[in-house]
Parts: sequence; structure tokens; C-alpha cells
Amino acid sequence: MKRTTSAVRRLYRLLLDLVLPPCCVVCGKVEVWLCDGCAEQIPFADGPVCPRCGDAWDGPELCPRCRTSPLRAAPITSVFLFQDAIREAVHALKYRGGVQVVDPLSGRMAEAWRCWGLSSDLLVPVPLFSDREALRGYNQSALLARALSTRVEVPIDETILFRTRATASQTHLGRQERWDNVRDAFACSNARDLSGLRITLLDDVATTGATLDACAVALIAQGARDVSAFTLAHAL
Ligand SMILES: [Zn+2]
Ligand SMILES: [Zn+2]
Repeated sequence: MKRTTSAVRRLYRLLLDLVLPPCCVVCGKVEVWLCDGCAEQIPFADGPVCPRCGDAWDGPELCPRCRTSPLRAAPITSVFLFQDAIREAVHALKYRGGVQVVDPLSGRMAEAWRCWGLSSDLLVPVPLFSDREALRGYNQSALLARALSTRVEVPIDETILFRTRATASQTHLGRQERWDNVRDAFACSNARDLSGLRITLLDDVATTGATLDACAVALIAQGARDVSAFTLAHAL
């Protein structure tokens, strides 16, 4: 049944490509979702943010949330704001099979990684529940993490962290609902001891940080020394 749904989904994408063929979300160049030239023009997020959670914040120290109930995934660093071309490119990646955007976007992520002096022992992509990954055909965070791993030469582990249960899409949930939705939804396989490792979670978009926090709890329980997050974009 799962395989049938996935095949139907792929056929649907193919038909959609015939009617609405891929074209660059910025300049309209055909056959790509985001061309290299346009990807290079997208500005990095550079507004004032909380140094811990990455939310917009113009205060002298941490934002109010980080002072009272800090996330365990910290700091959260995002390359772009989730708007305009980035929003459309992520949509193409998640819902139109637009894996082509991974190459130009991971190039920019690597550029930011170096520019901002980031370092890590291990990259871990935020996993999708197996049903959703089968339906989409891939995990977009894993694709970004894989490409980034090659570019910045930091190893990646795609199997250590997994989802213990299906969770509703976070997209239409309120702030508190998002936290309840992902609580205890992640665990680590016992295959690897993470003692002493500084781990960086990779995800496409950071919103409330609830998913990243739930992942960090599982990784810390497995021995990780600290867990930060690096995402393509940060929701406004
Ligand atoms: Zn373009
Ligand atoms: Zn904060």
C-alpha cells in the first residue's frame, strides 16, 4: 500500500512537471528550481537575533525564552530567513521533488559555515518518520546534511537518531501544540556511543525549535557533550 501511494505520488509529480515544469523560483530559468546565479544572490540572515535560539531579538543578552526555559539544542544557527526565494525553494524540495535545489543551497550553507567559523564533530539530520520518508522518497534534511558534510568535511550519521512514532506535520500547529506533538518522538539507536561528541543537528527550517529540542534530548541521553543546530532557514 505504502509503495503504491509512493508510486502514485511520483506519477503525480511527473504530471505536474509536464503542466508546470520546473523553473527557477527567482529568475524563471527552466529546468531548475533554483539556478546557481540566483542562489548566490540570496542574502544570509543578518538581523539581530538571540545568540542561543536564533529568534529575532534585539536585546543585550538572551531572549526572554532562553532566560527562562532554554532549548537544549543550542545555539540554533540559520543561514537564511524563511521567506521569498528560500520559502519557494523549500516548497519545491518538499512537495515537488525538487532535489536539484540541494546543490546550490548546500553550497551557500557551506559558505556560511566557513564564514561564521562553525565547527562540529558530527552532523545528524533531523529524521522523518519512515512512512513520510517513503512517501516523499527522501528526507530533505538528510539530503542537505549529506551535501554539507562533503563540502565542509564533517562526518554525518544518518542512522543514530530516529523517530519513535509518526507525528502530525508541525505546519498547522500552534506553539504549544508543536511542543506536545514532538515530545519523546525521537530516540537513538544503541549502535553508537556519542560520549564527548559535539553534535550539530541539520534541518531545513527552524520554527519554534521544538523538534530540534526533542532531538537534542535523545542525543544528550546517548552521551553527546553538546548539541547545536544548523538550519537552512529560520521562520520569521
Ligand atoms: Zn535563477
Ligand atoms: Zn533565545
